[in-house]
Amino acid sequence: MPHERFTFVLQSTRMVTPRVRQFNFRREDGAPFRWAAGQFVTLHMPFTDKELRRSYSIAASPEHSGDVELAITYVDGGRGTGLLFAMEPGARVQATGPFGKFQLREDSLQRDLLVATGTGIAPFRAMLPQLRKRLNGGGHEAVLLMGVRGPDELLYGEDMLQLARENPHFQFITSYSRRLSEPAVAHERKGYVQDHLMELNPDPARDIVYLCGNPGMIDDAVAKLKAVGFQTHNLRREKFVSSN
Ligand SMILES: Cc1cc2nc3c(=O)[nH]c(=O)nc-3n(C[C@H](O)[C@H](O)[C@H](O)COP(=O)(O)OP(=O)(O)OC[C@H]3O[C@@H](n4cnc5c(N)ncnc54)[C@H](O)[C@@H]3O)c2cc1C
Repeated sequence: MPHERFTFVLQSTRMVTPRVRQFNFRREDGAPFRWAAGQFVTLHMPFTDKELRRSYSIAASPEHSGDVELAITYVDGGRGTGLLFAMEPGARVQATGPFGKFQLREDSLQRDLLVATGTGIAPFRAMLPQLRKRLNGGGHEAVLLMGVRGPDELLYGEDMLQLARENPHFQFITSYSRRLSEPAVAHERKGYVQDHLMELNPDPARDIVYLCGNPGMIDDAVAKLKAVGFQTHNLRREKFVSSN
């Protein structure tokens, strides 16, 4: 059965890093839009003789009652992002959703390892209230590893650092794939996020790993995790690819 289509109206935008813009949408018909942390929406955009379908993870927690926030990376020559970055507040776009099962598992083990590249941080930002509750419940740890090229691309980093300051059982690690522009501070590492993940000695008996963003990073991380005994039930992944 086809999914219900509705119209989103763009309320506002703001650049959150030099290449990432946050888009705030609201349903035109005023109906509430409900989602679970980790889910995504699909935008349907006319493009020459066809319709593009582009999915975006919702970057806001479902507990936040405001707009649907999407964090979108500008892609040079990208068809969908070319259209989206030209939109001004008041513009309309067709949408379906929410979709997806990239959610925190209820039957969590001892440690959640959350791994993102770039805008792959969006679903984890939506999960923050849920993570906070889980960590406050005791007996649980979480590490969020974020891979970007450099400090200027550290999208929503302050939200993550805030949780790390509040809760000793939450660690935030940033992996910079290009040279650091300033001396490293405690949470900063030089290199690739999947290598820093393996330095945490992931253990299938106590960890669940959530991977989101660049497909190359996810494939590489999954190969490394499988080599130390992880299987599908301990791995959750959301690859950022275009549908058509
Ligand atoms: C479930 C899901 C959730 C997603 N969530 C997000 C999200 O929250 N934020 C977000 O920005 N994207 C997200 N994406 C990716 C998004 O749907 C598009 O693929 C992306 O915006 C590029 O679309 P485009 O039409 O501009 O590029 P296209 O016209 O499809 O691609 C143009 C060229 O750019 C390359 N390319 C595509 N994406 C990138 C990229 N990110 N960086 C560099 N090169 C690229 C392609 O390989 C191609 O060669 C998600 C994808 C899925 C499936």
